[in-house]
Amino acid sequence: TDNPASAAAPTPMMAQYLTLKAEAQDCLLFYRMGDFFELFFDDAKMAAATLDIALTSRGEHGGQPIPMCGVPVHSAEGYLARLIKGGHRVAIAEQTETPAQAKARGGKTLVARAIVRYVTAGTLTEETLLDSRRDNMLVALAQVGGEGSGEIGIAAADISTGRFETMTCPFADLPAELARLRPSEVVVAEGSGIEVADMHPFDKAAFSSSRAEEALKRLFGVATLDGFGQFGRAELAAMGGLIAYLDHAGKGTLPFLAPPLRKTSGGHVAIDAATRESLEIVSTTAGTRAGSLLGAIDRTVTGAGARLLGQDLSAPLMDLAVIEARLGLVTLFHDDATLRDQLRGALRALPDIGRALGRVAVGRGSPRDLGQLRDGLGGARLLRERLGRLADVPQMLVQLLPALDGHGALVDALSRALVPAPPTETASGGYIADGYDPALDELRRLSSDGRRAIAALEAKYRAQTGISALKIRHNGVLGYHVEVPARAADALMAPDSGFTHRQTLAGVVRFNSIDLHEEAGRVAQAGAHALVAEAAHLEELIGAVLDRKADIARAADALARLDVAASLAERAAEGGWQRPHFVAADGAGQCLDIVGGRHPVVEDALRKDGQPFVANDCRLNEGDRLWLVTGPNMGGKSTFLRQNALIVILAQAGGYVPAQAATLTLVDRLFSRVGASDNLAKGRSTFMVEMVETAAILAQATERSFVILDEVGRGTSTYDGLALAWAVVEAVHEVNRCRCLFATHYHELTRLAETLLSLSLHHVRAREWKGDLILLHELAEGPADRSYGLAVARLAGLPPAVLKRAKDVLARLEAGKAKTGGIAAGLDDLPLFAAVATQEEEAPDPLLAAIAAIDADALSPREALDHIYRLKQLA
Ligand code: ADP
Repeated sequence: TDNPASAAAPTPMMAQYLTLKAEAQDCLLFYRMGDFFELFFDDAKMAAATLDIALTSRGEHGGQPIPMCGVPVHSAEGYLARLIKGGHRVAIAEQTETPAQAKARGGKTLVARAIVRYVTAGTLTEETLLDSRRDNMLVALAQVGGEGSGEIGIAAADISTGRFETMTCPFADLPAELARLRPSEVVVAEGSGIEVADMHPFDKAAFSSSRAEEALKRLFGVATLDGFGQFGRAELAAMGGLIAYLDHAGKGTLPFLAPPLRKTSGGHVAIDAATRESLEIVSTTAGTRAGSLLGAIDRTVTGAGARLLGQDLSAPLMDLAVIEARLGLVTLFHDDATLRDQLRGALRALPDIGRALGRVAVGRGSPRDLGQLRDGLGGARLLRERLGRLADVPQMLVQLLPALDGHGALVDALSRALVPAPPTETASGGYIADGYDPALDELRRLSSDGRRAIAALEAKYRAQTGISALKIRHNGVLGYHVEVPARAADALMAPDSGFTHRQTLAGVVRFNSIDLHEEAGRVAQAGAHALVAEAAHLEELIGAVLDRKADIARAADALARLDVAASLAERAAEGGWQRPHFVAADGAGQCLDIVGGRHPVVEDALRKDGQPFVANDCRLNEGDRLWLVTGPNMGGKSTFLRQNALIVILAQAGGYVPAQAATLTLVDRLFSRVGASDNLAKGRSTFMVEMVETAAILAQATERSFVILDEVGRGTSTYDGLALAWAVVEAVHEVNRCRCLFATHYHELTRLAETLLSLSLHHVRAREWKGDLILLHELAEGPADRSYGLAVARLAGLPPAVLKRAKDVLARLEAGKAKTGGIAAGLDDLPLFAAVATQEEEAPDPLLAAIAAIDADALSPREALDHIYRLKQLA
């Protein structure tokens, strides 16, 4: 590979490049040269491969040609997007002076360049680089206490909107929190020992709680942080790292951050990474939004609403008051379809003011962003008027409404200042409205007078020369000029013609004239002054926006909350969903009572095929906490388990649920595990994973938790699997005492109903009819009468000969089972499961220990005989 650092005597330009590159070792360096960003050396090779663009070379370095590739500045965003997606980081080095300025500085004409910004996955604000319906989180982690133990501080921000939150959690909960946040980039202190995906080590000194405190006070302009809550040291250190990193990435321009929202670890339902993946809450196992719970219920009409819905589903609440407040808002829009339609219609037309603000705050705001803020905030004000007229509004609306208003002066200023549809680019001006600034109007008048005079000159010259094809044109090199066809050029070439020759091309010849030159000068000057005037107004308007940034962010949040509530109401109305009822646990104990529950994703998929979905009840209560669900493969067990977990998520996120009725006590932790063979595609040691995950449930589930276990124990041999499944069910029932649904194909487990009093048996119904298996997908009480394995195999299209053979084998096995009592024969006199015994180490058997100590390969026959005598003594 090329090693630029070791080469000798580079050209001045290469020397400058290498200095900049040294600042950005871990980035691809975009080096601005005129209208291009150029990349060199290994950067060029990497980028050319990722972007599929031509790799060329330029000059030599250390006797070797320098690999180079480039992208045009005007289309750089698209290329940046692909590099960032490809996992790269990019440093942007701009020219920080014009060639004229460079010349004025001294003899050398190399223009100064500097890195103005680092573009990384977690620090994007550009509309084209972001998914409008998903947060883009940057997370910083800091640890206090020893490595791998102690507490971890998490600071998370989406700088495209200013969302900013922090929390402290035990080290063991870090994976769950990261799974909730789904960060695009994670920053940790160099040498911290923390190991997570997409991690970027950063200056250790930045992660100091005292420095963080100072940085935060400065950022929010406050004398004390007390108003934001009491932060722990780890949280402060994480925030310090985050802010310092943002400062570094923006080269001193800090983005807008809302005051940090402090999340407490008990504030939302604990859902670990494996459960999130298995329930496909906001994305499927394949990583798509479609097919997830979010995909199936999202009816939001704004990007901000979609982002907030994703957040809500990722963090269902534990605070009943807030859940009920959210539900109150959903009910308002659910019960009043007209209001809902009006609201959604109004929201749909509103631009994404949160993201527009984010761009303005980092200094990349365009006139178009200001136009979006004008329209968005103006729309918010109209909504407030409409909603303010309602009688009997729910509490949450009362809280939200004030945030929608109060931007009148800003909206008015923006409305007066801007044209109706301002452009993204400022280079050619035209975004400040006529009549806003008399001086600007005058400059524009001068410039258009000049253009009119130039048009008049064209007519005059045509008449004067008699050349009807004569035209006055404009281009970047010559400016305004007269153009005639080559065959007519002679007349203008004459010395006394009043025209000066500028350029001869294949078919045309170009000239200048004194009058044209003068008019053009006037136009150019007025135009340049107008541009400067517009830029000054833009600056001023941006200042006015930034003065109100916190309020604008609050308005954006309020609009998003309205969108989410209306979306949940819309989905509920579509599907006939119901508002869940929460009850207190005291006295009666925990319950999860769902009548006629449905799985929103499976139901959607079936509907597309014209198939009905069979609703099922799940009625867990103190005396009946654990349901063991048996029945044939494909019978609907997994679907049933998951639908109830999804209903809990929806309910505690403050939404209606796909059921006829749902009554529950709050769930503190949610676990979902699927037996190993379903995960085989992943190629992990699946049984090991299954057991690790099951162990986590047994360690963490409380009486208030809800656990679904789907075919746990399937990943190993029949005997092992049955034994483990048996022991897990017992432990969940006796120790964790949580609400639990356990699906299994081990029919033998149904015998647990004899000893475990709060366990009951259920099965998915199936029927064989004329040799065909009919799966009814309907849950019924009691154990399944048989497994229907062969019938399922037949359904799957196994050849008749194989099926016939399997039938014969089965008959033999069943005959044997009748004689011996089958695989569970020895379980009749199994002593009751005792929770405490499992905690104690059993004393090792000396005989077994002695056998284990023998190294069979190293024994002589004589020594072997000695061992046998000794073992006989022990026995
Ligand atoms: P199991 O876990 O018992 O093997 P699944 O829950 O995976 O079965 O369901 C298999 C298929 O049966 C699903 O993909 C779906 O098409 C259909 N199904 C499941 N539950 C229902 C239901 N309640 N109503 C209608 N079809 C269902």
